[in-house]
Amino acid sequence: MSSLLGEACRGGRHLERLGLSPGSSGNISVRVGDKVHISPTGQSLGGLDEDGLSVMHLGPDGLEHVGGPRPSKEHGLHEALYLRDPEAVCVVHLHSTHAVAASCLPPWTEHSALPPLTPYLLMRVGNLPLIPYRPPGDAAQARLLRELDIECHGALLQNHGPVVAGRTVSEAVDRAIEIELAAQTVMLVRHVPGVRMLTDGETEHLTSTYQQPWRASL
Ligand SMILES: [Zn+2]
Repeated sequence: MSSLLGEACRGGRHLERLGLSPGSSGNISVRVGDKVHISPTGQSLGGLDEDGLSVMHLGPDGLEHVGGPRPSKEHGLHEALYLRDPEAVCVVHLHSTHAVAASCLPPWTEHSALPPLTPYLLMRVGNLPLIPYRPPGDAAQARLLRELDIECHGALLQNHGPVVAGRTVSEAVDRAIEIELAAQTVMLVRHVPGVRMLTDGETEHLTSTYQQPWRASL
């Protein structure tokens, strides 16, 4: 149990060192049994320690604070992804710059906010729908994410940022990093004429080879 908490704290420090969680933005959580340990409200991801995480009980109706400091007010997003996937172990939510910028643009399609420009988003994440804007911590937005009828590991919150789950801590952290890199590519080339997107055949090949959800699941 403690090793998972330690992994989450190290994951938070890694994201902070990469500049992906400026200030006290972003939150990370891990599921251990029927408990979710999540970064407290106002806590920098670079300063997490195992004993300082908020402890929440996860029941069929959601998360309830049962120990430690007050949890991030955005815990509903974590709850949504844990309830969607019983095998999800870690959830990461960031306000990373390029992903936030891309979240202000019209979505590429219903199932993917970002166009398929490079392989790794398809190899590691697949579908990444855009969820309509609501203020941070809004319970209705979390419910929308929970009930979304698109197979996905996470989503891009409109005018806000990404939230993504993994079945290990490193999978969730790597997905959050990959979303930021893919969004950076989108922002760099979006006004360049003649940009080549991956073809349908190329995206299908990548997502089937790496077993990531893609639009066929709609
Ligand atoms: Zn947020």
